[in-house]
Amino acid sequence: MKQNKILFLLILFVFIGCSKPGELFKEATCITNISTIDANNGLISNQTIILKDGKILKIAKSKDLKLSPENKIIDGTGKFLIPGLWDAHVHFAYIEEMAPSMFDLFLSYGVTSVRDTGGKIDFLKKWKNESTANPTTTPRVMIAGPLLDGMPNVYDGSSPARPPLSVGLATPEAALLEVEKLDSIGVDLLKAYEMLSPEQFFAIAKRAKEKGLPLTGHIPLSMDAITASNAGFSSIEHLRNVEMSTAKNADELLEQRKKMLALGKDGEGSVLRKSIHESQRREAVLNADEEKTKEVITAFAENKTWQIPTFMVMTSFVDKPFASKDWQETFKYLPPDIERKWRDGVATVLEMEVTEDRKIYKDWFFETVGKMNKANVGIMAGTDCPIFYLTPGYSLHHELIALVKAGLTPLEAIESATLSPARYFKMEKELGLISEGMFADLVILDANPLDDIQNTKKINTVIKQGNVLNRAALDEKMKQLDQ
Ligand SMILES: [Zn+2]
Repeated sequence: MKQNKILFLLILFVFIGCSKPGELFKEATCITNISTIDANNGLISNQTIILKDGKILKIAKSKDLKLSPENKIIDGTGKFLIPGLWDAHVHFAYIEEMAPSMFDLFLSYGVTSVRDTGGKIDFLKKWKNESTANPTTTPRVMIAGPLLDGMPNVYDGSSPARPPLSVGLATPEAALLEVEKLDSIGVDLLKAYEMLSPEQFFAIAKRAKEKGLPLTGHIPLSMDAITASNAGFSSIEHLRNVEMSTAKNADELLEQRKKMLALGKDGEGSVLRKSIHESQRREAVLNADEEKTKEVITAFAENKTWQIPTFMVMTSFVDKPFASKDWQETFKYLPPDIERKWRDGVATVLEMEVTEDRKIYKDWFFETVGKMNKANVGIMAGTDCPIFYLTPGYSLHHELIALVKAGLTPLEAIESATLSPARYFKMEKELGLISEGMFADLVILDANPLDDIQNTKKINTVIKQGNVLNRAALDEKMKQLDQ
């Protein structure tokens, strides 16, 4: 019996040993001699990655794998492989005419997954379906549906700057009905907005938890940050209204807001929200309190309330990254009408003087994100494109640059755009790392992003579920956008 077993093992060994080199990886794509970089393992050099059927089949030291000339080989010598990037805050429905170009723009810049944080559900579902049906040629799309807002709602369709991205809900019951509807349509998360009452927010948070849907959004003006976080806020966009809870006089500010909300309840939502922000933001930032800040950040860390700072939309009024030629070059990839509008719009913003308030707020913003990161609050990279001249895909790289400026290491910045969003959606077994069995959503870079985060822009190849788009294919894609 024992002898038989040894004989069997011997035959097996000889069989494997004799198989032709590379045969195991027929019809696979092999990336050889590359340095891999991911959030768990940092940089590992001289790796060979075998991709098959849209997934990562095998990873090994290059010297340990024998490939044959029949293998489809991508020589990764001197190059760097990172997981496909996420933009965790986009809006397909913000400029509807732009949506058809957004898939190609995202992919061209290495963004293989996006999280849409608000818009008309029918419109979003259409793009999500399109993406689901074409997983190798479009980015993965996660959607929240409309902003769940109270009354009067902010994004009510009253002007081009306020497209109808939200639903105005009068009661907690109405909010729950909307949650049921969205869940049955198939949203991936929910988004709470600023005019919700605490009762509505609690009802939504409870139901979201029961359904296993992450609840993101802006802290309702009628609430404080810690209460919202404790109630089950999965994530907060733009640090919106956080400053109002980290001020020395936070309680007083909340009472004031409640009065303003009651007084303005019959007016327009956008007007009311603006008047509250204008009357409180500056004062709150000037009264920023070390102890209160610590309490809020601790609550976020303990409750795992992720932050999506969106530096690009929140601080660009001051930093004006779109002043660069490189940035404005990307406008040629937009539909002609939008290109014209953006060129005019940027010219106007560049002439505008930066107010003292905006500078103070920007400094507070960078500092607070840095503190959050130090305290292990989860951070995700998101831009808010295509709002505020943020070219889809391209702007994500500048979000990473801003995150590093705020104190994240380049590897942490990469994590915020790869593993973190995967974990947020409980997809960390499928996405976000360079690991066997995971989806082959990958980006090959010509330079090391750990040396300089700007190097994430040096894109050599983008791979979406195994579909390899090399530089020539990406250039061709972009040429088609530039009509
Ligand atoms: Zn947004």
